[in-house]
Amino acid sequence: MFDSLTRSLDSVFVRLRKRGNVSEEELTQATQAIRRALLEADVAVDAVQIFFDAFAPRTDELARELKDSINPAEELLERAQKALARLLGEGTQKPLRLAFGEAADPPCILVAGLQGSGKTTSAVKLAARLQEEKHAPLLVSLDFSRPAAEEQMTTFAESASLPVLTRKKGENALALAKRAQATCLQTHALLIADTAGRMQIDEEAMIELKGLADVLQPREIWLVADAMLGQEAANIARRFCERVNISGVLLTRLDSDARAGAALSITTAIRRPIRFAGTGEGTADLQPFDPTSLAGRILGRGDLKGLAETMRRAAPSISKRDLKKETSPNKGRNKGRFDLNAQREQISQMRKAGGAKGLAQHLPQALREKLLDARVKTMIDDDKLKRQQVIIDAMTPYERRNPALIHASRKKRIAAGASASVVEVNRLLKNYAQTAKAMKKMAQWDEKVLHRNMSSLFR
Ligand code: GDP
Repeated sequence: MFDSLTRSLDSVFVRLRKRGNVSEEELTQATQAIRRALLEADVAVDAVQIFFDAFAPRTDELARELKDSINPAEELLERAQKALARLLGEGTQKPLRLAFGEAADPPCILVAGLQGSGKTTSAVKLAARLQEEKHAPLLVSLDFSRPAAEEQMTTFAESASLPVLTRKKGENALALAKRAQATCLQTHALLIADTAGRMQIDEEAMIELKGLADVLQPREIWLVADAMLGQEAANIARRFCERVNISGVLLTRLDSDARAGAALSITTAIRRPIRFAGTGEGTADLQPFDPTSLAGRILGRGDLKGLAETMRRAAPSISKRDLKKETSPNKGRNKGRFDLNAQREQISQMRKAGGAKGLAQHLPQALREKLLDARVKTMIDDDKLKRQQVIIDAMTPYERRNPALIHASRKKRIAAGASASVVEVNRLLKNYAQTAKAMKKMAQWDEKVLHRNMSSLFR
């Protein structure tokens, strides 16, 4: 996410870090390099100005302030993170009110945006996320302009077992909206309604959207905006806000090589918070938008909160108690032992967290480069992880529970079953032995050690 901006900003701060103190001239050079980097990332000029008003309104005064600082580069980094976080909307996010309250006010989120911005996909991802958080979502497609819109939603929602209210013959968008609302009142569900997108903002689309909003009285109307559009996304947002009461933004395609312009310009343009970020095409690829964490990531500082969130979502069931249980001595029929079944579960969680790329995005720049270094990357590369899963799947339950008993003839059979070589089977077993050893060690860490070891990565 925003790799090229991160690289440019990181190089400015690496240079500053090499100096004991920072002269006014060096500070001027640094601010010029930061301005260039932001403009190259397609951040709107007024947003860049707001950044500098907070970061360094006057370089001469700032240089004087930093004169007595023990670590001026760190202090500047801190100021930059605060200023970037403000641009990303820090302080504009009020808590969401999505719980089912009085019957007259059923919760509803209406999503709007241009065609192709990722509305339908995001509506389903949002429903999946809210279901995970113990809401009871109900999806409905009010997009009657595209014949396949409802089918697209239904197919995607089915893959995550999410309910969709489908249209009846002869029903129009307003009638379906009313029926959806009545269903939600009856079942205490949270309605997530997708609307028609157009290639461009036109009068007809706006009137239709306003009509639906009048019927549904949604608690939130979110604009789905494509981050690939850079600062143009902010212009589109401004025009939507002029016509409809947009309350927040859901920014999509942050996983692609989108420049940071959209994220860094949109809040300045419309003074509404970005609520979620789309980070891929899967139902789980939606992250809550946290301005301070993202500002830290952009500055190459890493983001411990985001890493914890990714791990929590990928492995909701792994707690420290589970870790101990998995590595504890054999009880009964192999119950609770870290065997190849547990290894398979770990591989699947690692894949859910997005493999090397998914984890690396939360790490400080220097560590990220190490993690994505070819040698380490191959260990957690998604294709490699998938191959390992296939090899484990080719084993019998007995073999998965007793990896030590997998000798030559079994290895040959497993290799043939997984269309792999015996060398690959051996590599997997070696990997398993090392993981089992590491797990044993980690199980002995208490909370303090765990936190210390994690935090040290982010210093
Ligand atoms: P709509 O016309 O606004 O409803 O857009 P769709 O939901 O149909 O999305 C258009 C395309 O963008 C689809 O291929 C989606 O899979 C893709 N898409 C949506 N959100 C994301 C995202 O966050 N990341 C990536 N990489 N693709 C996305």
